[in-house]
Amino acid sequence: MKTYFNKVSRSDLEFFEKLLGSRNVSTSEEELVVNSIDAFQGDFYRADVVLWPETTEHVVEILRYADQHRIPVYPRGGGTGLTGTVPVYGGIVLSMLKMNKIVEVYEEDMQVTVEAGMIYEKLNKELEKYGLFFPPDPSSGSVCTIGGMVASNSSGLKAVKYGTTRDYVLGFELVFAGGRKMKLGSRTFKYSTGYDLARMMIGSQGTLGVFTEITLRLRKLPQDFKTALAFFPTVESAVKSICKIVRTGLDVAALEFVDEPLIKNISEYKKISFPESKAMVLVEAHGSARYVEDVLEGCCNIFRENDAVDIWITRDREEREFFWSARRSVYPVSLRHSRYLVISDLVVPISKLLEAVLKTYAIAEKYKIKASVIGHFGDGNIHVHWFLGDNRELLPIAHKANDELAEWVIDVGGAVSGEHGIGTEKKKFMKLQHGEAYDLMLQIKRLLDPKCILSPGVIFDVDEVIQ
Ligand SMILES: Cc1cc2nc3c(=O)[nH]c(=O)nc-3n(C[C@H](O)[C@H](O)[C@H](O)COP(=O)(O)OP(=O)(O)OC[C@H]3O[C@@H](n4cnc5c(N)ncnc54)[C@H](O)[C@@H]3O)c2cc1C
Repeated sequence: MKTYFNKVSRSDLEFFEKLLGSRNVSTSEEELVVNSIDAFQGDFYRADVVLWPETTEHVVEILRYADQHRIPVYPRGGGTGLTGTVPVYGGIVLSMLKMNKIVEVYEEDMQVTVEAGMIYEKLNKELEKYGLFFPPDPSSGSVCTIGGMVASNSSGLKAVKYGTTRDYVLGFELVFAGGRKMKLGSRTFKYSTGYDLARMMIGSQGTLGVFTEITLRLRKLPQDFKTALAFFPTVESAVKSICKIVRTGLDVAALEFVDEPLIKNISEYKKISFPESKAMVLVEAHGSARYVEDVLEGCCNIFRENDAVDIWITRDREEREFFWSARRSVYPVSLRHSRYLVISDLVVPISKLLEAVLKTYAIAEKYKIKASVIGHFGDGNIHVHWFLGDNRELLPIAHKANDELAEWVIDVGGAVSGEHGIGTEKKKFMKLQHGEAYDLMLQIKRLLDPKCILSPGVIFDVDEVIQ
């Protein structure tokens, strides 16, 4: 690896300790290791130091200093990312976890401004008092931060009704490489005042700037909600039901697919006796009690038309929460069954969903590897779990299988990530995915961060940025 960057020296540490206080600077082995990994099972790289800024001015000073001394900076929230946004070139991990306050709730405007290290579920707990919520709902919501969600354009179970993080970001304060601070966006719901630079920053995974404060629009908490689970004799009948629900325009708030191996894992972990089936669909409706009943009835009719072997409707909030916690547990439960795991985040037009599932099984058979499919199928998002068991040697084979599927997805008009982002994991697909637009993206990166100080190795290879 070429040396583009400097390691953090004793005098650098003295500067950071003076700026942040020694409690906010750590070179302890434990902190370095814990803060140098995310949830992607890739190679291990270690940062030189972890810094915890407490104010935007701290972030400004750190980025100014790092740029002058050519020290890489990797912004970090909850560390739950699934794409390997890790300190490939060492340097600084900039943990935003101490910038975690609500700055202001604009109740009448249904908006909130938060510091970037605010945890998703904590924010929603606070917003409950106002009858408001921030909907995207990633399964990692108890740990992940709003800054991490904006940087990844995360979403989750409810995107089919409410959209992704991007749809809620009105504006933010961010700090560019070199320490320049800027506010982008506005507090208005409509905005047509020149280039929309704010939207460009969303999903940039710490490569273009560090978010310090973010203003989100919010939604009113639904009056009522209810969930149904339907079990199908074939994958085809489950996927056909999902597509029919979407095309009918039924206003569902979640529309999830789970195939047989993952149903079995969940049932064993949560001790639920699900009926025998090849696939399960979970659907939820939000609104007034009457509205929720109507939407679910429409869905159940479609399930019956498509030969569902059984349909369960949750009786109360506790039961509903139990089934959704079962759904959210899928990733950790998969890890109990397979120490090594590759997870895809592919997204396709919904007309390609069935083909995508069947293609996954065919590729799994070709590479003799176990694969199972789960996903936010209401919006075409497929998470394949490639199980390697205890055998790390199988990692390259799983990646090969996953790559073959990803190339097919791009070919049919889909994308290699619906919500997790590119990170270090998927940058090999950037040219294929974007064609000529890839060069434009590189030029934007060079313009905003010419020394490639921010998250080098993430989204782009450094030697493409620095020429
Ligand atoms: C069990 C589990 C379930 C998950 N479920 C979902 C899901 O349902 N939907 C989904 O979309 N994702 C999911 N994820 C992936 C991940 O949780 C989300 O992408 C999440 O939003 C990341 O937030 P974080 O705070 O943990 O960010 P981190 O992992 O710390 O960082 C993610 C990226 O954001 C950048 N970043 C963080 N903070 C800032 C900031 N302030 N300024 C600039 N850049 C920043 C980092 O540099 C990195 O590139 C899941 C992960 C796990 C482990």
